[in-house]
Amino acid sequence: MNDPAAKRGVEKAVPMDHETPTGAKADPDVAIVGAGSAGIAAARRLLASGLTVTVLDARNRIGGRTVTRRFKGHPVDLGAHWLHAGPINPLVKLGHRRGEPLRRAPVDGHFFVRGRPGTRTERAALDRAFDMADRAMTQAARAREDQPAAAALPPMGPQGRRVAAIHGLVSGRPLDEVSLHDFPSMEYADNLFIAGGLGAYVSRLAHHLPVRLGTAVHRIDWSGAGVGIETSSGTLRARAVIVTAPMAVLQQEAIRFAPALPHPVAAAINGFTQGVYEHVILHWPDSPFRGADRLASLPGTHRQPPGLLTRIDGTPFHFFELDQPAASSFDRRDVHAPYRYARAVLAEQFGHRAIRNLATLRSTAWRHDPWSRASWAVVPPGLYAIRDRLKAPVGERIWFAGEALSRAQWGTAGGAWEEGERAAGEIIAMLR
Ligand SMILES: Cc1cc2nc3c(=O)[nH]c(=O)nc-3n(C[C@H](O)[C@H](O)[C@H](O)COP(=O)(O)OP(=O)(O)OC[C@H]3O[C@@H](n4cnc5c(N)ncnc54)[C@H](O)[C@@H]3O)c2cc1C
Repeated sequence: MNDPAAKRGVEKAVPMDHETPTGAKADPDVAIVGAGSAGIAAARRLLASGLTVTVLDARNRIGGRTVTRRFKGHPVDLGAHWLHAGPINPLVKLGHRRGEPLRRAPVDGHFFVRGRPGTRTERAALDRAFDMADRAMTQAARAREDQPAAAALPPMGPQGRRVAAIHGLVSGRPLDEVSLHDFPSMEYADNLFIAGGLGAYVSRLAHHLPVRLGTAVHRIDWSGAGVGIETSSGTLRARAVIVTAPMAVLQQEAIRFAPALPHPVAAAINGFTQGVYEHVILHWPDSPFRGADRLASLPGTHRQPPGLLTRIDGTPFHFFELDQPAASSFDRRDVHAPYRYARAVLAEQFGHRAIRNLATLRSTAWRHDPWSRASWAVVPPGLYAIRDRLKAPVGERIWFAGEALSRAQWGTAGGAWEEGERAAGEIIAMLR
């Protein structure tokens, strides 16, 4: 048994795509750091305008925080999976135009209380608590100085704690660490999924783009005309650069700027905190959940999963989601800790017999990956303005783009795409 994944008891995932870099130029008009959603969107837009482009990515694959792998023959997303905010999500619009296999996410979820189906009254109480919380946060954000989103929540007992846990999961941090002004600006309704996985779709959109994989950018020199870009495999020059590396990576100074970035820009980058959201991928053919793609709410027990997406695409695969407090409680060296946790929580709800044929296949660790270091960027209380502050280019040569800059779709692949297109559009206008 020489395979380290097999040694750890981790299901081996099979890569989905042949990703061949094509035609990357040494001195393009525009260099793009990062071949995730933002970088791919920017490259497509720039190329369509007739400019030359080279995309540089530190990893040996395309897609950044969207990636689909095969488990037991089925495609499963290890990163982004939902297409949120359908009416404004550019990946949805593009998907419809391309005839991609999009499907609407069901609105009704499963609701179990200590293993038995919840009553209508119990379900209605939770729905009411969600409505109250959303109204309270939206109103408070309009009326008041910025503060922790949690401070705006009315007292709602156990239902309130459940609502706060779910909002904390989708925010990436507990609500007392999230800006009240930032929280309600997120559009989250009308979600869709795509057959074959979102990572595979994003990767399809990058076919034939001039991407250099395995090329980490270390330094961007903007002291003279244009930019000089030092990478792990040589230097290139361009007239402008779009940096889509995640905020948490930039905070580590993985890329140095010469001269240093102006103080307000550096302060905005350093203002974000790390959003944490991880999947534990379950294979559970005998799960009590019927139908495809439904969220399950499992209150009533001591520990409750803040998110559980069941029977993904009608398969026996499920996502048991880890929020920041849960993920941070595990010892990094103990790769089995998330599996034990997921099993213990589900056993508490349904009993040990019910989870007999449950297999835990993979637990993601984006928070430890050197090229992401988080699932997305979170704005802490008081720093509401930092997303917009990064939109202004530096020295008319350096643009930032990526999920962290999106106002209505922050933390999402659609928001990253939108921001990549915005940066590209501004560069096209300038270079013309
Ligand atoms: C587990 C999980 C679940 C999620 N669920 C959803 C969801 O359901 N729906 C949704 O819309 N979003 C979801 N997200 C968020 C979504 O994945 C991200 O918001 C989006 O993919 C970010 O795109 P991006 O282009 O901004 O950044 P990335 O995709 O991170 O792309 C940046 C690229 O830069 C590269 N890079 C970094 N540093 C360097 C360097 N120094 N040199 C060269 N290259 C570098 C990286 O390798 C990466 O490819 C989820 C994220 C995670 C982790």
